Amino acid sequence: MKVALHACCGPCLIEPLDALAEIHEIVVVFANPNIQPAEEYKRRRDTLREWANERGLETVEAEYDPELWEAAVAGVRDQPGTRCRRCYTLRLRQTAAEGARLGCDALSTTLSVSPYQDGAAIDAAGRAAASERGLVWLFEDYRPRYPEATRRSREAGMYRQVYCGCPPSKAEADEERARRRAERRRR
Ligand code: SF4
Repeated sequence: MKVALHACCGPCLIEPLDALAEIHEIVVVFANPNIQPAEEYKRRRDTLREWANERGLETVEAEYDPELWEAAVAGVRDQPGTRCRRCYTLRLRQTAAEGARLGCDALSTTLSVSPYQDGAAIDAAGRAAASERGLVWLFEDYRPRYPEATRRSREAGMYRQVYCGCPPSKAEADEERARRRAERRRR
């Protein structure tokens, strides 16, 4: 099958791509209007593109408009569970639209390699997005491959971000790092 593979970043692409490219034709779709600021978005996109281009992979960029993300999470910006479910839906819908436009048969995502994401919510959002476009939904829990993805991305010298992508996730990550620093100082 020809698969539109949603990719959130270069490091998360490595392992799912290996698994899927063994049996499918892959189009990598960078559909991430959640990422702010724009400089961070470009850095993640360019990291992914460089890695994919070196391997002769086709990559496509969906519309980058952070207002799409803001509209999708309006009213739930400070509620991580619901906010993330809506964010997955937005990005997987964008990817499914690109996949349909490019004549793909199936939809998948690299999001499920991350232990920081909600696998069940990703599965539900992807299934619905694929169904809307008449695509097959290919989901696999890639979390067991996360340590290898980390190792390989470090070895490749890839840029590795320190927060998920949206402004609240940056604030949450900053808070968590400050909390850990304070804890270390208390020891
Ligand atoms: S934390 Fe990550 S998945 Fe959740 S809304 Fe923000 S960018 Fe999206």
